Amino acid sequence: AKSQGMGRYEIFNTNMHTKSLARLQLETDLRRSLERQEFEVYYQPIIHLESQQICGFEALLRWQHPTRGMISPLEFIPLAEETGLITTIGCWVLYQACTQVKIWQAEFPQLYPLTMSVNLSAKQFLQPNLLDQIEQTIIATNCERTHLKLELTESVLMNNAVTISQTLTQIRQLGMQLSIDDFGTGYSSLSYLHRFPLNTLKIDRSFISTLAGSNEHLAIVQTIITLAHNLNMDVTAEGVETPEQMAILRELKCEQAQGYLFAKPMNVKDTNLLLEHAHQT
Ligand code: C2E
Ligand code: CA
Ligand code: CA
Ligand code: CA
Repeated sequence: AKSQGMGRYEIFNTNMHTKSLARLQLETDLRRSLERQEFEVYYQPIIHLESQQICGFEALLRWQHPTRGMISPLEFIPLAEETGLITTIGCWVLYQACTQVKIWQAEFPQLYPLTMSVNLSAKQFLQPNLLDQIEQTIIATNCERTHLKLELTESVLMNNAVTISQTLTQIRQLGMQLSIDDFGTGYSSLSYLHRFPLNTLKIDRSFISTLAGSNEHLAIVQTIITLAHNLNMDVTAEGVETPEQMAILRELKCEQAQGYLFAKPMNVKDTNLLLEHAHQT
């Protein structure tokens, strides 16, 4: 029994070792990924439910690793946050997204006024020069401020409420829009919501996926939508996958929806095809 235990210990140890090596390797790779141009921004359409038209996109980062293939942002964003690389990467995403919305707006002026939503991680949001960076990007890309929408999670808002509130107010004064992302999954404290100048509340996918089967979830979603409307926010439902979910959301007067039912996140080329098609019909 004892030797068996030893064996297990060794295996465990080797595993740990392999894990930290893999992490270290990933970190090294992440540092090189920008210059090696391994990143690409994908765009997922956001649909205005009443008109069924595309009204915007969310920029979602993709990393094509040279040997491991596509790595999920859920895996590398936390690492980018820990290492501080998120600042450079986030800046790059913002630049791409602003460039792209400018192009689409010019090419498809008949569409609904497009908004481009960009995710900001906590670390990025707390950088002292965030506003300068955004301003510089807007000037460099000649993108309209009003087309840019920044997505923040609840955890960002809960930190340091006073400073955050000032930064958010400045962002709004400059003409940009703000969303609260993954609503309902974080601290679930509603008391902070009215303190911030938010435009849009995004209901997390976990509430939408069970919407049709559960009266409790229906009640929660209905309550969130009413709350948002009373606070002068509009609502985007995330992860809409079925026509049934869409129908319920329309009935609940949810303004926008995003999900595989409409389209997955796509590269620029495929998004162009979709927009050309939407433009024709
Ligand atoms: P998120 O901001 O909540 O983005 C929505 C995620 O849900 C995306 O995953 C999207 O592909 C996925 N999704 C959209 N519709 C559906 C659906 O109908 N069904 C299902 N099952 N999934 C759907 P993705 O692209 O893997 O991104 C994961 C997370 O990584 C994002 O969650 C966001 O938190 C983070 N992320 C992605 N790009 C960036 C970025 O540029 N900067 C930062 N800071 N975070 C990013
Ligand atoms: Ca998001
Ligand atoms: Ca989200
Ligand atoms: Ca999410």
